Amino acid sequence: MTTVGILGGGQLARMMALAGAPLGLRFLVMDTAADACAGQFAPLLVGDYRDESALAEFASKVDVATFDFENVPAESAEWLASRVPVFPNPRALAMAQDRLVEKSLFRDLGIPVGAFADVGSLDALRIEVDRLGGACILKTRRLGYDGKGQFRIKSPADVEAAWQALGAQAGTVGLIVEAFIPFERELSVVAVRGRDGEFRTWPLTENWHVDGVLSASLAPAHVDAALAQAAYAHARRLAESLDYVGVFALELFYRGGELLANEMAPRVHNSGHWTIEGAETSQFQNHLRAVLGLPLGETRALGHACMLNWIGEMPDAASVLQEAGGHWHDYGKEPRAGRKVGHATLRAEDAVALAHALARVGVALGRQAQVAPVVARLTA
Ligand code: AMP
Repeated sequence: MTTVGILGGGQLARMMALAGAPLGLRFLVMDTAADACAGQFAPLLVGDYRDESALAEFASKVDVATFDFENVPAESAEWLASRVPVFPNPRALAMAQDRLVEKSLFRDLGIPVGAFADVGSLDALRIEVDRLGGACILKTRRLGYDGKGQFRIKSPADVEAAWQALGAQAGTVGLIVEAFIPFERELSVVAVRGRDGEFRTWPLTENWHVDGVLSASLAPAHVDAALAQAAYAHARRLAESLDYVGVFALELFYRGGELLANEMAPRVHNSGHWTIEGAETSQFQNHLRAVLGLPLGETRALGHACMLNWIGEMPDAASVLQEAGGHWHDYGKEPRAGRKVGHATLRAEDAVALAHALARVGVALGRQAQVAPVVARLTA
């Protein structure tokens, strides 16, 4: 009997546990919240990630540990790794926790990135915003996610307001300023690397965000093959440089025929949820296979898929369930503004059929705006 320990007990851990059941796996999930939604399917250990006695109990009960949450303190991951195998390794986790370190690594590996700078003071921010051309985003280096810990600077006149919003965090989590990229598309590569170094990617995914939060994903993305190959090569270089084991996502901006890396998520990723029904092997199953040293599954797409995120509250399921390729995921969470509470995936044999299904669901749920950019891409 193998028990997989997961640090973080949200929907990613929940979907991982569901994917692990056919493999005969047991799970233990650790989370700071007693109502963490993965706890509905797997034993839950409630504790702080910095609490050594809780971590020791966790370590004593699992054969291998992984994450559903990348902001587990790096020291806790290190501590755990001295007791049980931890995948991905704590170095990869630490790298992905800090936007400055991450972007510097991309640059060192020859993966193109937009201009960025570390900023420690209001004066430094003024200088960098001028140097970067005025339109920027100020972000916390650490502990930011889903657009949180960010301030959009449209022109140098916004610098004071940006510093007021985030300046206090310069001395704690650190700040980075990035040139604003007026991208044409946002893409992500979801990839997996096994313990033996075997590397696979799912087809490139196109993503649409609303207020910094993922709203919809389409896979395979409608891009030319050479661009997709370039994205896969970037992901591979990154994984190999970190000796990465497991699933990760590399988020990319596309502009003027060029890809620029935004960030890496060292875990299964929201933009890979479509793989549950839309690919031969899901990201969740392949993550488990990777961390357990099992052969990786095929990652090819089964037709065309679109994932729609449900934020804040669940809509009515019927309009999705009545679609031939409609799949529903309710994470069992309490509704709350801004919270990811579920998603749907629509899958079809061809792009036109997927566009029609999306349009029907959009009208039925009053979510035409959410499906519109995807329908436009599919029918272009
Ligand atoms: P992040 O937390 O870095 O993934 O940012 C969340 C979202 O904000 C991204 O998916 C983009 O839609 C947008 N964004 C972040 N950084 C930039 C940038 N440098 N230029 C333009 N948009 C950005």
